Amino acid sequence: MTRLTTNDASDHPAIALLEQLIRCRSVTPNDAGCQDILAERLQQLGFACEPMPFGEVSNLYARRGDTDPVLCFAGHTDVVPPGADDEWNSDPFEPIIRDGDLYGRGSADMKSGLAAMIVALEEFIASHANFDGSLAMLITSDEEGAARDGTLKVMQALQARGEKIQWCVLGEPSSHSSLGDMVRVGRRGSLSGMLTVRGIQGHVAYPELADNPIRRFAPILAELHTIEWDKGNENFPPTSFQVVEIHAGIGFPNVTPGELTARFNLRYSTEWNHDRLKTRVHEIFDAHEVDYELNWHLSGEPFLTQPGKLIDAVVDAVKEITGNAPELSTGGGTSDGRFISPAGTDVVELGPVNASIHKIDEHVRIDDVITLTTMYKRIMELLLA
Ligand SMILES: [Zn+2]
Repeated sequence: MTRLTTNDASDHPAIALLEQLIRCRSVTPNDAGCQDILAERLQQLGFACEPMPFGEVSNLYARRGDTDPVLCFAGHTDVVPPGADDEWNSDPFEPIIRDGDLYGRGSADMKSGLAAMIVALEEFIASHANFDGSLAMLITSDEEGAARDGTLKVMQALQARGEKIQWCVLGEPSSHSSLGDMVRVGRRGSLSGMLTVRGIQGHVAYPELADNPIRRFAPILAELHTIEWDKGNENFPPTSFQVVEIHAGIGFPNVTPGELTARFNLRYSTEWNHDRLKTRVHEIFDAHEVDYELNWHLSGEPFLTQPGKLIDAVVDAVKEITGNAPELSTGGGTSDGRFISPAGTDVVELGPVNASIHKIDEHVRIDDVITLTTMYKRIMELLLA
């Protein structure tokens, strides 16, 4: 492969592994061989590797040690499709380094996290073969897609056999403008509503003979938009309601529609759970005279990791290495943390800068991948050495 840099950093084992992973075309939910590469490295370190496939999804759970506490590194091998290949400045599945950045689909989200974890584990175990507790890795190929047969199912299987994880570091790209400036200690909940409002189609000049569902829905929509769901709290921004789609009308100027469909989403704080939110929304609809049907989809309840040893270790590791304490955030979309946290596991997300994720020409700074390796290793030393 062409190297357009003379930086010695590109010879680092985490960079070599990252390049190997990017060459696997693991468009979700296809793992494309990534987990075999990781499992081989983990086996050499003495991990018991357990493939846990569900449906067409590949999952890998690996563990070294059989005592508590368990520190688990988690992440995903799948990537979003590259989009228009010809808009990329280089092949999205052929890693290339330009000016200290490594380009390729998944370079930031989140194959660099996985590569840094593996090399950090190798370095840590080389110097601390008899660490306290256990180390584990939980890897899925179903994070970017439906997320039904991935981390969720693995966590269910682990819980069914009574296996507990105390601490989890998720390698999602959490950083904002420089490595370690932000870590996620929780995420908002996400609840979607699929709405149908039924009316009676009619002539626009005879509204008394019709029942226009747009007119029925308009005041409800206004109320949903203006309501103060909560003020947020010290860890979460206020809950927000957003409409993402509205359809009504037959495309003809003198006909009022017989039906309206809409789709909306609530991103909510720990002030709510999904049952109470649904009840509140139904109360608003029921206060109006409207014939409607509402179907719900819950992507995940909010979660929050409380202050404790894991957050302390992550904050201390980042501070020692960058000189600055990270901001503890609950922003952004959902993550697989929503499936891990309910088991009573503390979850913190620490990974590279997220500015280019899912975009054309996704990239990561190679120095950041190397520094991230050091951060992960330091977290292990602080928790298990
Ligand atoms: Zn990701």
